[in-house]
Amino acid sequence: MDSYDVIIIGSGAGGGTLARHLAPSGKRILLLERGDWLPREPQNWSAADVFVDNRYVSPDTWYDGEGKPFQPQVHYCVGGATKMYGAALYRMRAEDFGELKHHDGISPAWPISYEAMEPYYTKAEQLYQVHGSRGEDPTEPFASAPYDHPAVSHEPRIAQLAESFAAAGLHPFHAPCGVMLNEGNMPYSNCVRCSTCDGFPCLVHAKSDAEVLGVRPALEHANLTLLTNAEAVELRTNPGGTAVTEVVVERAGDHAGNGHGDPTGSGQSGEGRRETYSADIVVVSCGAANTAKLLLESASDKHPNGLANGSDQVGRNYMFHNSQAVLAISKEPNPTVFQKTLGVNDYYFASDAWEFPMGNIQMVGKSVAAMYRGEKPLMTKLAPTFSLADVAEHAVDFWLSTEDLPQQENRVSVDRDGKLTLSYHPSNNTARDRLFEQLRSLLGNLGMHEHHLIPRWAYLENKIPVAGVAHQAGTCRFGSDPSSSALNENCRAHEVDNLYVVDTSFFPSIAAVNPALTAMANALRVGDHLLQRLGADGG
Ligand SMILES: Cc1cc2nc3c(=O)[nH]c(=O)nc-3n(C[C@H](O)[C@H](O)[C@H](O)COP(=O)(O)OP(=O)(O)OC[C@H]3O[C@@H](n4cnc5c(N)ncnc54)[C@H](O)[C@@H]3O)c2cc1C
Ligand code: SF4
Repeated sequence: MDSYDVIIIGSGAGGGTLARHLAPSGKRILLLERGDWLPREPQNWSAADVFVDNRYVSPDTWYDGEGKPFQPQVHYCVGGATKMYGAALYRMRAEDFGELKHHDGISPAWPISYEAMEPYYTKAEQLYQVHGSRGEDPTEPFASAPYDHPAVSHEPRIAQLAESFAAAGLHPFHAPCGVMLNEGNMPYSNCVRCSTCDGFPCLVHAKSDAEVLGVRPALEHANLTLLTNAEAVELRTNPGGTAVTEVVVERAGDHAGNGHGDPTGSGQSGEGRRETYSADIVVVSCGAANTAKLLLESASDKHPNGLANGSDQVGRNYMFHNSQAVLAISKEPNPTVFQKTLGVNDYYFASDAWEFPMGNIQMVGKSVAAMYRGEKPLMTKLAPTFSLADVAEHAVDFWLSTEDLPQQENRVSVDRDGKLTLSYHPSNNTARDRLFEQLRSLLGNLGMHEHHLIPRWAYLENKIPVAGVAHQAGTCRFGSDPSSSALNENCRAHEVDNLYVVDTSFFPSIAAVNPALTAMANALRVGDHLLQRLGADGG
């Protein structure tokens, strides 16, 4: 059995960022990824392949609380969900780290303050080359440094929209974007500012994702080994149950990942092969649902309810935002190519408009006609007056995010055969509906047809059903009390001395902004703790 200083399981926002942070230390690190490298191919930018045929979505079947099967929108590849993400890289608001009163209940406080996370947000923004502009968003928290890169400019229709929002008394701002765009020198810009970004992989590797800016730079260090097609299926502990001693991995296909060699030295085909690895420290970062699954399936005599689950919190408190993707019809055509440059947070907290938080308004990638195939509500509402091409030409696409509150009964569970059940009931529906109405009431002022604010049914579904797991979080929450949380403030399992979790599972509440930057920042924070524990420096 091969032994390492650190094993990281999962190479997405949490694991990929941690790998990059630890790699310069010279410690022996094994990065396990169940998927392969995402292929670079023309289909990366094809709406029909990506949105209609779900080319990069895993074939997994999960079950909802009523036992109904569904295909979750998960992506198993190097870089994880960040390969497809919209790269809107927001900090949580400072207030989100405290307790917040919502219409449907309390959004609980985090065990660490915003101030403790702030330096890592700054580092994560630098690492992921976030483009933004401080001082425009009224809810923006304190930042110790300006953005390294200027905000991505608005295209004319979005600039007009920003002006209209401002004229209506709101405070639109330039959204923080993780794209490697150099508008001052386009011949040298990695990003070509295309329309196929949000929800698509970037064919030219110009999106700030965890493969390009996490795993690839980590692999420049010979002490880090990546194994692809390597699914961790069980964590075994010492007899006392106090430390993970073996990571059991199932290999699909024969891929040693990075050319640093086959760590088993076996040279065998990996088809169906099981291997075990050990490390002083094991970090799980499989995404919120799969991390819960791995821990629950690692039950033993000492951990009968699942590894590190004495609190019975593993798998519980699943959250994923009460989101709505909606489409407004502009009176003027909307020829915008890269639409995701604007945000509005005037309804984020309690306001004059309502005594409770409603959430965040931002843009999503510009929709195109090919994405509407199968979107029946859209066709029913607009046909026959509009052709789908007309809709696409005039569509302005918004993403509304309302905070989803943690609830014990919203949970991931796994049966003896490994069948994953995701039981979920949304919270904060009133806040979600209010946010929708708030935007709808503004349409006339925004140069849109007043009565058309229409749900989108592609991957960004309205009132996203359980399959829309893009923003999954919360299944392994951190806290200071071992009876009500699975992890401590350093994201170490309360009950297992060498086991950490750095994906979005650790979130005790999810706020109403996109989660990836917080996962990245936290991975850097936990990474500093691990470097100290290993007696290493970051190089
Ligand atoms: C279409 C889409 C758009 C999005 N847009 C945004 C956005 O604009 N802004 C934002 O902040 N967030 C966005 N998100 C969400 C964001 O991508 C996630 O919050 C973030 O990637 C979560 O990071 P993670 O580390 O928890 O999990 P992931 O990034 O999903 O990483 C988990 C990794 O673990 C691997 N894995 C799973 N199980 C195992 C196992 N047993 N063994 C080995 N490996 C395993 C997976 O293959 C994957 O690579 C979007 C997501 C999607 C899908
Ligand atoms: S907009 Fe830029 S980063 Fe996004 S997919 Fe296109 S080239 Fe890549």
